[in-house]
Amino acid sequence: MIDQERDRYLDFIQGWAVNCLGHCPPEIVGAITSQAKTLINASPAFYTDRILELADKIVECSCIDRVFFANSGAEANEGAIKLARKWGSLYRDGAFEIITTENAFHGRTLATMSASGKPQWEPLFEPKGSGFVKVPFNDFGMIERAITSRTVAIMLEPIQGEAGVVPASRDFLTGVRELSQRKGILLILDEIQTGIGRTGKAFGYEHAGIEPDILTLGKGLGGGVPLAALGAKESVCCFGPGEQGGTFNGNALMTAVGSAVLDTVMRPSFLDEVRRKGEFLKGRLSELSLSLGEGEVRGEGLLIGWVLTRANAGQIVQDAFRRGLLLNAPRPNILRFMPALNVSMNEIEQMLSILEEVMSEG
Ligand SMILES: *Cc1c(COP(=O)(O)O)cnc(C)c1O
Repeated sequence: MIDQERDRYLDFIQGWAVNCLGHCPPEIVGAITSQAKTLINASPAFYTDRILELADKIVECSCIDRVFFANSGAEANEGAIKLARKWGSLYRDGAFEIITTENAFHGRTLATMSASGKPQWEPLFEPKGSGFVKVPFNDFGMIERAITSRTVAIMLEPIQGEAGVVPASRDFLTGVRELSQRKGILLILDEIQTGIGRTGKAFGYEHAGIEPDILTLGKGLGGGVPLAALGAKESVCCFGPGEQGGTFNGNALMTAVGSAVLDTVMRPSFLDEVRRKGEFLKGRLSELSLSLGEGEVRGEGLLIGWVLTRANAGQIVQDAFRRGLLLNAPRPNILRFMPALNVSMNEIEQMLSILEEVMSEG
């Protein structure tokens, strides 16, 4: 990426894991250019080939049966919350409460802020939406105890991204899946950050061998354009006409881009490469961490967090920026790495050498 002064940057933020194929990739430029010449927007009153194609592609590579497009992750999650509540009103005697987790991030609309567990948000914009019960992440016992006759769903990120790349343990995810089935409630997975290949599998849930009832996607799905999706198993799809919608939803230009992204990410061996590069990045960061006496390196695929022993992640981000490297610090003591999924080994090496310089000076 190049700024207005023509300085070059090596981008390991990529718009918060959005630009999954990097900046101005030919696949996306091509999709935008050709779609813009054909049809930009037909209005939400009509299905277009682009909507149907992308929905088919998502259904084919995921566990969900139906897809509804949105313009942002928050909007997709808002839709997931509405869908769960509708389902609860029909099949669970009006149950409406959703169990979410501490430090979760689900978006910035009022309902999704209420579902989130960011401590800094607690005093903001009160009163927030009700109907969310918060439990500690990775704590199966607390979820079990929080379930009542009012509970309709459990909502989770398979890896908490904004919290500092905190993975749900495999046991936790399989336990929560089994528990929600046993109790007859829904499991909503927010894969806005972890979906579309970010973790080295098409979806984060595959690592645990489970399937959610409702799945939300965003960020990487559009590769840089505003596109998100709410998906669900057939048995949960209970919206009536007009209950979910939006002016720009399923926009032809955006869905054409989503198709180009999925075609690329689902190409044979693309995800093998993501896993290989992720392992390499994680391994090298772990070595660096050991030699510097820093903390844990965690995450999957190309969503990696590095826990530092001091709260100097913000300073490291600034120093790296001065040397042309874009990094993110989701927490004062955590660095997050989320390069394009097609990042090269050479770019990873370059990033590591700049980072090593910065860290050894700090
Ligand atoms: C980014 C993100 C969101 C919100 O998406 P927006 O497009 O910013 O509304 C929701 N959940 C998770 C896990 C995210 O990473």
